[in-house]
Amino acid sequence: MNREEGRGLRKTFQRQTILEQLRRMKTHPKAEDLYRMVRKRIPTLSLGTVYRNLNLLREQGLILELALGRDASHWDGDPHPHPHFVCRGCNRVVDLALPRGAELVQGVEEETGFEVSTYQLEFYGLCQKCLGKQKEV
Ligand code: ZN
Ligand code: MN
Repeated sequence: MNREEGRGLRKTFQRQTILEQLRRMKTHPKAEDLYRMVRKRIPTLSLGTVYRNLNLLREQGLILELALGRDASHWDGDPHPHPHFVCRGCNRVVDLALPRGAELVQGVEEETGFEVSTYQLEFYGLCQKCLGKQKEV
């Protein structure tokens, strides 16, 4: 194996490890959280490499980037469109089920004549834990 091949293999291994780690996490981590986790397995990993790979995996349609406004993007190992709940108190991002997602898309397509390829839907508020804290005060 020549040097070029070695580098290619290392890159593939890094990307695969990042993807596997993200798929295992249900917490929708930011790049820095993911970096801290994956670095335990690949100590030579850099934050820049994590960002580069996340963007690449997103372009390949393997993961989702959740740009939720206030801070850095959160990342999702499940690329299928599904809604999220974002807690304004603790910044938690939780998966939601949208039982009528297909109907919603169909409705938009019928109304506009457009073809929907994907959607992003976020609900914002306070989670039960943060609601509980509010009541204690
Ligand atoms: Zn909360
Ligand atoms: Mn999700």
